[in-house]
Amino acid sequence: MKIFVAGGAGYIGSACSEYLLNHGHQVTIFDSLITGHKEAVDHRATFIKGDLADRAFLMDVMKQGKYEAVMHFAAFSLVGESMKDPGKYFRNNLCSAINLADAAVESGVKSFVFSSTAATFGEPEEIPIRETTKQLPINPYGESKLCFEKVLKWYSQIYGIKYAALRYFNAAGATENFGEDHNPETHLIPIILQVAQGKREKIMIYGDDYETPDGTCIRDYIHILDLAQAHMKALNAPRSGHYNLGTGNGLSVKEIVEAARKVTGHPIPVEIGPRRAGDPARLIAGSELARKELGWKPEFENASTIIESVWKWLQKHPNGYSK
Ligand code: UDP
Repeated sequence: MKIFVAGGAGYIGSACSEYLLNHGHQVTIFDSLITGHKEAVDHRATFIKGDLADRAFLMDVMKQGKYEAVMHFAAFSLVGESMKDPGKYFRNNLCSAINLADAAVESGVKSFVFSSTAATFGEPEEIPIRETTKQLPINPYGESKLCFEKVLKWYSQIYGIKYAALRYFNAAGATENFGEDHNPETHLIPIILQVAQGKREKIMIYGDDYETPDGTCIRDYIHILDLAQAHMKALNAPRSGHYNLGTGNGLSVKEIVEAARKVTGHPIPVEIGPRRAGDPARLIAGSELARKELGWKPEFENASTIIESVWKWLQKHPNGYSK
């Protein structure tokens, strides 16, 4: 299939592009490189530097390319930042995404796969979080993603474009060639491994007074290759849908630190700090629909395997993509 990948130079977009190329698809990566990296563009893909906010340019590119499918990874994704600058999130994650949906419709794209998030659920009313659980986001990041899920629902009904909204839980892991490189880095696993690399003295655990067995927050860490597998399955799904992508296993911050100690052999000192605003105690995916309708099944259910993949990537890229 000829696929237009918006945000294909980012963390998850680069790994998915590689996966699609490995499975014989033709990939064009469109990325502003604001948070993405040129070095994360697979050399087999066509690369176009551009911003989804530039509607006329985007329309032109998509009409010329005659793509069969769109995958949309291009978004801002920091909860804390979204609480300080909501407009930045709604402009990019909603307005620019609408440009992409319009361009997809006008250029005759048949299938649209959207990177949504567990943050659309807010403080979930049930655990595990099912695909049908009520979505009540508690920050502009989650709200911007939920708004675009709704845009897609209407575009599908009105224009007939098929879509999948894939709600990632905690994306983690690396492939041989592509990994996580954010600046600043805020995510747990990369920060823990920076301690093991000697770049930080310790990891600050954001609160150990949650109502969980060891008091630290529980998350569902899902390998980016499992996300990639879901994207490819979503391309071929017979109808539109919303799917939760997680393993169904929750791991606490302390359990992740312990697993990283085993993988790296480093003691990884920790300090307990205050809670981080906006962190729900537990986020665990129920992915029944993804499993049933997409035939998706995660293969990396073990935290150690996920951490090992990142550790291996860091041996080759100790400073991420920067030289
Ligand atoms: N976390 C932490 N220390 C850090 C970074 C994260 O204790 O330096 C915790 C955070 O509070 C959350 C979990 O690790 O409970 C995962 O956080 P991350 O930012 O990786 O992903 P999120 O769950 O926010 O999407």
